[in-house]
Amino acid sequence: MMRVAVVGAGVVGLSATAALLDRGVDAVCLERTGPMAERSTGSSRIFRLAHGSADLVALARDARAGWARWSEAAGRPLVRDVGCLVSGATTLEWTAAMRKAAAPYTVAGSDWPDLGLPVRRAPDVILHDPTGGVIDAEGAGSHLAGRVGGALRIATVYGLEERGTGARVYTSGGPLDVDAVLIAAGAGTSPLAARVGIYTPAVLAHHVRFTFATTRTGPLRSWIDQSPGRMGTYQHMAGPGRWVVGGLLDYAAIAWEAGRDEATRVSREAVLAYVRDHLDGVEPAVLDELYCTTMAELGDGFHLRRRGPFTAVYGDNLFKFAPLLGDLLAAAVTEGTEDEVDHV
Ligand SMILES: Cc1cc2nc3c(=O)[nH]c(=O)nc-3n(C[C@H](O)[C@H](O)[C@H](O)COP(=O)(O)OP(=O)(O)OC[C@H]3O[C@@H](n4cnc5c(N)ncnc54)[C@H](O)[C@@H]3O)c2cc1C
Repeated sequence: MMRVAVVGAGVVGLSATAALLDRGVDAVCLERTGPMAERSTGSSRIFRLAHGSADLVALARDARAGWARWSEAAGRPLVRDVGCLVSGATTLEWTAAMRKAAAPYTVAGSDWPDLGLPVRRAPDVILHDPTGGVIDAEGAGSHLAGRVGGALRIATVYGLEERGTGARVYTSGGPLDVDAVLIAAGAGTSPLAARVGIYTPAVLAHHVRFTFATTRTGPLRSWIDQSPGRMGTYQHMAGPGRWVVGGLLDYAAIAWEAGRDEATRVSREAVLAYVRDHLDGVEPAVLDELYCTTMAELGDGFHLRRRGPFTAVYGDNLFKFAPLLGDLLAAAVTEGTEDEVDHV
């Protein structure tokens, strides 16, 4: 039986481990802190078909079918289909990608009566992605933890080494010999992969999103806004009465060198000012904040790199792709793939 070590128990590593176990592989998932602890932490994420390329739109549609399967197995919906709106700089390009991929969408003006956003002034042009919505991130984590079960092991991976036709994994619990290794370690991927000659982007940045109380009831839509004259944001309903806002700040403000505290302070001030100036029915007082590292040079999409028994995966905004990524990565590790696969 093939033996595979997956490094990292974020949503990507857990999804890949579950898919490997489904294929009858003897898989172990090695995680240094706990499952869903770093970039996958928190209660919610945006799901959307809308992307800047028809390739990513089509892959998101495949991922949505995966979310339907996960929801059925979990016995509850893991994506709330409230729809996702896109406005501002990317709208034209993303609309063209939706059309090319034959995905369902509508384009509306600011007089659209059914906006479903807590804003003072509606955007001039809106792309409506009706398949989009909100992912129940905690529900996804519970579902995956149940499927992975005892294959999850708390251990830090310190080193990787090619050995014969397989690999040796050096962990805090001792060495482990396997046939293949999948490096799905989020911010930890680049340093580990570099040890086995796989070079992936390494420049990190800080990102913080903030939760506010809203008096708006009814299903609010998820929203990606890059309208001129205001800070780019992504926003969605994180639960009853809870509205989440993440700001797309200039790189200088969130650069790694700025430090986590300063990047958080600047982000909080910018998002609070945005809420005060532009939102309606949202109380401008932060209830909660969620911090993570992000890759400075990456936008939407994902990338696979292979060398010998090692496969590394990296990208940004990966949560929505998790069911699809798990299957793709399990196939890459067990059946092989090209050395470089890029979906952007
Ligand atoms: C605030 C915020 C908002 C976001 N919004 C969206 C969104 O709306 N839609 C969307 O699709 N995506 C969104 N994302 C991005 C998405 O959540 C991430 O891309 C995704 O969760 C990444 O998962 P991962 O498994 O690759 O990484 P992670 O969740 O970071 O998992 C990697 C794991 O590897 C472990 N690890 C690292 N090094 C080692 C080592 N040496 N040994 C053992 N374990 C190790 C870490 O402890 C960690 O648990 C958002 C992210 C954040 C934080």
